[in-house]
Amino acid sequence: MNILELFQTFQTPEQALDHLEKARWHGKPVCPYCRSEKVCRHVSGDRKAQRWQCQDCTRAFAATVGTIFHGTHIPLKQWFLVLALMLNAKKSASAYQIARDLGMRRPTVWSMMHRVRIAMSRDMAQSELMYGIVEADETYIGGKPRKGNRRGNDTKAKTGRGTAKTPVIGVIERGGRVIAEPVEGRKVHFRGLHKFIAKHVDRDATLLITDEYSGYGAMRSRGFRHATINHSVMYANGMIHTNSIEGFWSLVKRAWYGSHHHYSKRYMHLYLAEACYKFNVRKSKDDFGGLLAAMVAA
Ligand SMILES: [Zn+2]
Repeated sequence: MNILELFQTFQTPEQALDHLEKARWHGKPVCPYCRSEKVCRHVSGDRKAQRWQCQDCTRAFAATVGTIFHGTHIPLKQWFLVLALMLNAKKSASAYQIARDLGMRRPTVWSMMHRVRIAMSRDMAQSELMYGIVEADETYIGGKPRKGNRRGNDTKAKTGRGTAKTPVIGVIERGGRVIAEPVEGRKVHFRGLHKFIAKHVDRDATLLITDEYSGYGAMRSRGFRHATINHSVMYANGMIHTNSIEGFWSLVKRAWYGSHHHYSKRYMHLYLAEACYKFNVRKSKDDFGGLLAAMVAA
């Protein structure tokens, strides 16, 4: 949904809440406190409140209870706009940009985007195992690209393995989904790499493709069908290449250096989750509906 459609669809707070009710309950409201289905519209008071009443636990509630939209005093329409702007941004939208676009305070927008990213990362953690041709790779992200030699005699190359940037590992299904996350410490170690791949990739249904980094060496002994490409010799050998994951890395890096270089490394996992989420819904016809569903998934 683009921003104009969103404005036209949700002209009143009631329309936004109606939409959220449908996204969350699909016409069968459930009490968020006791899970009872014996609920009815709250009768006393203002229709505008659009609250429900549970006949089991007697509590009153709205569709926002228990979701990221609850208890923020931010109108749902503002939330929807933030979701849409995050989805529509080609690279990644900064809180500065969205705050300017919507005339809101930057810290408010930052915390909204933070909640959205947490929900995106939860959604990613629940995705099914990858299969088919799966490329695995690691990269290093963070900081600002160094210009020249500002810090005196610190002339060591600051790219590649073993630098102070955050190491990130990722797997991608050729033509399909991607999952990436940062790694603790300063280097990617085989143990962490193997754990990550085993967690996200279906060993029996996959041809795993990596470069010849020694960390991947033992994947075959762990039961993976595994092919490697030696990048010092060639970039692709027929279908044996890691171009998909490398394309994703360059997307993430453009987003990082373009929008987030002033943010803390602490949130790298959430920025990665956002990049993965957006990549994974790139072919979706209703990415807004999908994101809203992920936001209210209990
Ligand atoms: Zn109840």
